[in-house]
Amino acid sequence: MKTFEELGVSADLLKAIKEMGYESPMPVQEAVIPYLLSDEFSDVVALAQTGTGKTASFGLPLIQKIDLTLRKPQALILSPTRELCLQIANDLKDYSKYIPELSVLPMYGGTSIENQIRNFKRGVHIIVATPGRLIDLMDRKVVSLDTVRKVVMDEADEMLDMGFTDSINSILERVPQDRTTLMFSATMSPAIAKIAKNYLHDPKEIVIGNKNEGAKSVNHVYYMVHAKDKYLALKRVADYYPDIYAIVFCRTRAETQEVADKLIGDGYSADALHGDLSQAQRDFVMGKFRQRRLQILVATDVAARGLDVDDLTHVINYGLPDDIESYTHRSGRTGRAGKTGTSISIINMREKGKMRAIEKVIGKQFVAGKIPTGKEICEKQLLKVMDEIEKVQVNEEEISTYLPEIYRKLDWLDKEDLIKRVVSLEFNHFLEYYSSAREIEVPEQGRAGKKERNAEGDKGRGKRGESRSRGAEPGYSRLFVNLGKKDGISPALIIDMLNHNIDRRIDVGRIDLMQNFSFFEVRERDASTVVKSLANLTYNGRPVNVEMADSGEASRDARPGRRRSQPKERRRDNKQQENDDFRQFFDDDTPFYDDNSWKKRKKRGKR
Ligand code: AMP
Repeated sequence: MKTFEELGVSADLLKAIKEMGYESPMPVQEAVIPYLLSDEFSDVVALAQTGTGKTASFGLPLIQKIDLTLRKPQALILSPTRELCLQIANDLKDYSKYIPELSVLPMYGGTSIENQIRNFKRGVHIIVATPGRLIDLMDRKVVSLDTVRKVVMDEADEMLDMGFTDSINSILERVPQDRTTLMFSATMSPAIAKIAKNYLHDPKEIVIGNKNEGAKSVNHVYYMVHAKDKYLALKRVADYYPDIYAIVFCRTRAETQEVADKLIGDGYSADALHGDLSQAQRDFVMGKFRQRRLQILVATDVAARGLDVDDLTHVINYGLPDDIESYTHRSGRTGRAGKTGTSISIINMREKGKMRAIEKVIGKQFVAGKIPTGKEICEKQLLKVMDEIEKVQVNEEEISTYLPEIYRKLDWLDKEDLIKRVVSLEFNHFLEYYSSAREIEVPEQGRAGKKERNAEGDKGRGKRGESRSRGAEPGYSRLFVNLGKKDGISPALIIDMLNHNIDRRIDVGRIDLMQNFSFFEVRERDASTVVKSLANLTYNGRPVNVEMADSGEASRDARPGRRRSQPKERRRDNKQQENDDFRQFFDDDTPFYDDNSWKKRKKRGKR
C-alpha cells in the first residue's frame, strides 16, 4: 500500500489530513488520486459505495491542481443533494486548511440565490453544486464553466434516479471538451453506462469492492413477522439496542410519518424525514440526527439521500424496497469507514421472494434473526442502567449541600436496598411493559418451518398487539385535549404546549393522537395543574380544551413508558440550543414551529 506522500499529495494537504486522522490512503484514494493529479486528461468511472473515502479521493487532487492565481472556476463537483453538496464543500475546506487562498463555493437550491451570486462574484476556484441550481445560475449568465478543467459527478446514480439526466447532459455540454471527468456511482446501471459513453472519453473503470455489491462490512439480518407485528418488532429492536443510532427506511411518506409518530408517542428519540416536510424542516431534522440529538430517523429513500452520517449502528428496512438498488443504497449507509454495520429487514412472508432476489445481487445471504424476547430486552436495558450509574458524573460541589438531608432521609435503607431502588427507578418501565407483553409470533415459513414462539411463550393478554393497560399507566392520569392530527398536532407539540404554559417540570407519559382529538398522560400529582394551566389557551386561534379523560377510555399500543420530560432548565437550554442551531443552519430565519401558536385567551395572572 502506498502512502499519501507516495501518491503525490502536497505538503499543505498532508498536514491537514494528518490532523484529521488520515494515516494512510483508503483503496479508492490509492486508485483515484494519481489519475486526477496526472496532467493527462483521462476520464474515470469509479464504482464505490458511500463511506469508502471518495471525497478525499477527488477532493485532494482537485485542490492540488488549482491555479490559485486564477480566481476562476477550475473544478466542478456535481452532487445530487444540498446536504451532500455542503458536506463535500466542508470536507474540501478542511483539506485546504493550510491553503487559505483557496475558495470553494457550495451552490444548491432551496436557499437565497442572491447570496450565492454575491459569493461567486468574489472569485471561486471550486464549485460544488446541485445540477438544478447550477443550470439556473448558468441561465442567468452568472456562472460560466469555460475555465473548468476537472468535473466530478458524485453519486451519479442518485442524480440520475432523481431525474437530473437532462440537467447533467446540459451541464457537461457546457464544459470545455479538454477536461477530465470523473464519475462516482455506487452501482453500474445502464443509465450510468450511457452517460459514460456519451460524455467520458475512453473512461477507465475503477471498481472498489465488487460491482453492484452491498458493502462488505454489513451484516444483513431479517426478522420475519406478520405484517401487523412490524411496528412491535421495530420497537423491540430499538429496545434491545439501547445505544441504537439508526435510519428506519419506509416506503411511503405516510408510512414514514406514521411510524415516526408512533415511536415519538412511545417515548423514543425519533423523528420523520420525508418529502411532505419543507426543506427547512428536513434540514432541521437532519441536523438533529447528525448531532445525535435523535437516535432514530424514520425516512423515505428519497428524503434520506445526501444525509451523510458515518457511524450508524443499524439501517432498518421497515419492509424491503421495490428495487434492489435502493436496498444497496440503504444498507451502504452502515458499515462505513472500516466499521461493521447491520442492515435489519423487518419483513413479512410476502417479501421473501424480494429478499432472495436481493441476496443474488449483493452476493450475500440474509441471516434469520430472532426477535428479542421481553426477558432479553430487560436484561439489556438493565445493563444499560448499570452502565449509566457507573459512568454518571457526580457534581460533588453542587450536591454536597443536599447530601446531609439525603443521607438522613435514606438512612434506613441498606446498600442492597438502595441499589435495587435506584435501578428500579429507571428500569420499572421496561419491566412492567415486557412482563405482560405478548411475544411476537413468528409466521410459519414453508414446509420445513414450524410455528415458533419466542422463548418466553405467550403471557399476553389479548389478540391485539402488546396492549397491556387500559386507561393510564400506574401513577399517571390521562388527559383529553380537543386537538388532533387534523390540527397538525404531534407529540412534540403536546410537550411544547406544556413547556410553554407551565413553569415546572412535567413528566409526560403516553400520547395517543387521534384525527380530531388526542390523549396524553401526566403524573397524577400534576394532572390538575396541567388542566388549570392550559385553561383559556388557544392554539392557532382555536380554543383549547384540556380535561381529565374518562378512566375507562381504552389505550392502544402500550409502551415501556420512557420518560420524555426533563428538568425545565434543561428543556429551556435544549430549546434555545435548537433555535440557535436552526438559525445557524439556515440562511432564512423561518422558525421550526410558530412560537406564537399557543396563546392565552385572557390574562389569568401568573401561570
Ligand atoms: P467519504 O466516503 O468520503 O464520505 O469518507 C468516509 C469517512 O472516511 C469520512 O468520515 C472520512 O473523513 C473518512 N476518511 C476518508 N479517508 C480516510 C483515510 N485515508 N483515513 C481515515 N479516514 C478517512
